[in-house]
Amino acid sequence: MEEVALVYKHPQFCIELRCGTCNGFLNEQTRCCNACGYMYREEDGRPVFIDPADMSAALADQNSDSENSFKNFFKRWPRLYRFFVYLVAPVLFSGLSAKRFLDELPAVPERVLNIGSGPTFLHPNALNVDIFPFPNVHILARAERLPFADETFDVVCSEQMLEHVRQPANVARELIRVTKKGGLIYTATPYMLPLHPSPKDYSRWSIDGLHDLFDGCRPVKSGVLNGPVSGMLIVMAGGLAMIFSFGWTPLRKINNYLFMLLLSPFKLLDYLYAKLPGAEDVAGGLWTIVQKP
Ligand SMILES: [Zn+2]
Repeated sequence: MEEVALVYKHPQFCIELRCGTCNGFLNEQTRCCNACGYMYREEDGRPVFIDPADMSAALADQNSDSENSFKNFFKRWPRLYRFFVYLVAPVLFSGLSAKRFLDELPAVPERVLNIGSGPTFLHPNALNVDIFPFPNVHILARAERLPFADETFDVVCSEQMLEHVRQPANVARELIRVTKKGGLIYTATPYMLPLHPSPKDYSRWSIDGLHDLFDGCRPVKSGVLNGPVSGMLIVMAGGLAMIFSFGWTPLRKINNYLFMLLLSPFKLLDYLYAKLPGAEDVAGGLWTIVQKP
């Protein structure tokens, strides 16, 4: 009897799902991995490749921080959340976003992976993968071990995700693995930005650091996502909040929002300053595009 691979039906395409542990073949009939016996499961109609224990640990981590639970509550309404962030955060996203990068590609990419998607809708052909069950997330999986075969996607996008993973070099290798030969990988990460646990925050990179992470790929283009004024303002808000909290954490958190709100309008200066030479040395955030050979 011929074995049939387990397939996920995205509105625009079908893709083969692989084992969440060893990337082995998942049998459609037995719903198990032929190599290691991993059993495929679904929750609310979504494929889940995260162990229940890992999942509850991540959720507990995320909810242990009241600020994060507050943010995640509002992520149920992505537009409202984005508007709220635009109003309060002193950070302007003036550079090339993943959405604009996809919209400006000369040819429409058939299959796009948006890893660490949150509730963001980037493109009709984007498959959203996250560790949390936000709206618009198609598949729940870890970036370290993606449940896809090699060379599945034309384009892979990760926005503000790599700083939240423990072993970014392993994740970068995994993103390269699922990208087709000649395919593009867009990455955006913060640079001059205070700690923002979601649920954890581990790393920062320069453009050279990002290229080093995607070792073996060809750097195509890079630039400033959040300009120098944004970087300065958000660090300043965090610094002032800390100084004027006199060691009392609840006051520091309130101060942080107050200073952010106060400084927020000045971010508009980045429409100018983010474009000037030297901006990337002190930028709030950076983006890069690399191509798999
Ligand atoms: Zn397996």
